[in-house]
Amino acid sequence: MLKGASPLVFERSVEGRIAYSLPELDVPGQDLTNILEDKYIRKEKAELPEISELDLMRHYTELSNKNHGIDSGFYPLGSCTMKYNPKINEKVARMAGFASSHPLQNESSIQGSLEVVYDLQEHLKEITGMDEISLQSAAGAQGEWTALLMIKAFHDANGDSNRTKVIVPDSAHGTNPASATVAGFETVTVKSNDKGRVDIEHLKSVAGEDTAAIMLTNPNTLGLFEEDIITIRDIIHGVGGKLYYDGANLNAIMSKVRPGDMGFDAVHLNLHKTFTGPHGGGGPGSGPIGVNAELAEFLPKPLIIKKDDETYGFEYNMPKSIGRVKPYYGNFGIYLRAYTYIRSMGPDGLKHVSENAVLNANYMMRRLQGTFELPYDEHCKHEFVISGSKQKALGVRTLDIAKRLLDFNYHPPTIYFPLNVSECMMIEPTETESKETLDGFIDTMIQIAEEAENDPDIVLEAPHTTVIGRLDETLAARKPVLRYEADES
Ligand SMILES: *Cc1c(COP(=O)(O)O)cnc(C)c1O
Repeated sequence: MLKGASPLVFERSVEGRIAYSLPELDVPGQDLTNILEDKYIRKEKAELPEISELDLMRHYTELSNKNHGIDSGFYPLGSCTMKYNPKINEKVARMAGFASSHPLQNESSIQGSLEVVYDLQEHLKEITGMDEISLQSAAGAQGEWTALLMIKAFHDANGDSNRTKVIVPDSAHGTNPASATVAGFETVTVKSNDKGRVDIEHLKSVAGEDTAAIMLTNPNTLGLFEEDIITIRDIIHGVGGKLYYDGANLNAIMSKVRPGDMGFDAVHLNLHKTFTGPHGGGGPGSGPIGVNAELAEFLPKPLIIKKDDETYGFEYNMPKSIGRVKPYYGNFGIYLRAYTYIRSMGPDGLKHVSENAVLNANYMMRRLQGTFELPYDEHCKHEFVISGSKQKALGVRTLDIAKRLLDFNYHPPTIYFPLNVSECMMIEPTETESKETLDGFIDTMIQIAEEAENDPDIVLEAPHTTVIGRLDETLAARKPVLRYEADES
């Protein structure tokens, strides 16, 4: 076994031990052969681990401690950051009336749940400045794809089927070109200028009668606000295209500026980022989309509507809808968390969140800029990008710096993204971290930069404290070893 590794629960097994005793059977026993076909009935006892309650609890606690999460340390991953996960969210999501409801229940018996969903939609309309919201899609990328299908349906309905291209900046999140491709469009890249913004002249040259839409995030993934957004809107609307807003990370602008007011026609949000849903490992997410009135009739169905003063229900009568994109009604548990968060913060609270997110990011950027190269020396929004190019000249790459951070119990920042900055590190501190935490991380980054100069091997050989050092990350992702092979000897 590797040093520091935990034994598997099977390896802890000792015959006869149990962690939980079932109550005595108080109904007549059943003969399985009357209920199940023979082929489904086990011939030998299953080899399950036998372990005491306390040992079992320690086993899982030990495993969970090997994971990095925001409950165990700072997590400044840019863009896809796990933001705040307030504990009250979990309490609300577990309330029996919500947790034990079922999507097949009759409308009249889930009025409370429908009211929460409807209210959440209303809040998201106000936050984004859009006319209609559908909560159905289960992830940011799915929201992108859904809205692009709607944009396609809109152009088709206008007899405008030659709009085959979606414009995406070179700094865009990878899901943008991927969603456009899956939705059947061809992507066209628009370059960034030397200020990290969309190059307007280049945009004019790629926009045309074949443009279906542009996908933008503002602030962009460099953390910079597209100041020319009104010009961009006019160029795209001028050629008959639509503006799509990637709102996965809205924590720089809430209660400050709204995608709808910037001229966007469609937007997705990640409730599992900005609106405090936990995420990771492909767990349940929620990527609602908001659209303006022109696109609303193409929304996925059913919509959740208010039927009269007191009754909520589903609207299926939507002849132009693109259809369903998710079984049932999306991930309700994440709606509850987002709703709890929005209600507990209120509009002023959300504004304060954005101000703190921006303040924290600028503070870190300014303290790090002497040590690391800062490619765009301007105020940032909720995140910023620095480059490890000075350290690379010493033979220490950004990947090595990221690995070395693990030794100090930090989740590394996003690295080598966006693609237009070499050796880049994209850092998002989020709004909820204290100055002491930010300083601790910055001091560690400065220490690692000093090591790169004076003792590079310690960085090149990092991590030193984890059970496994450097993995072949591609192999680990493509061919994960997830099954326990019992030792037969
Ligand atoms: C996270 C993220 C997405 C994709 O969201 P998923 O829920 O992971 O599909 C899209 N765009 C940006 C900018 C993001 O940060």
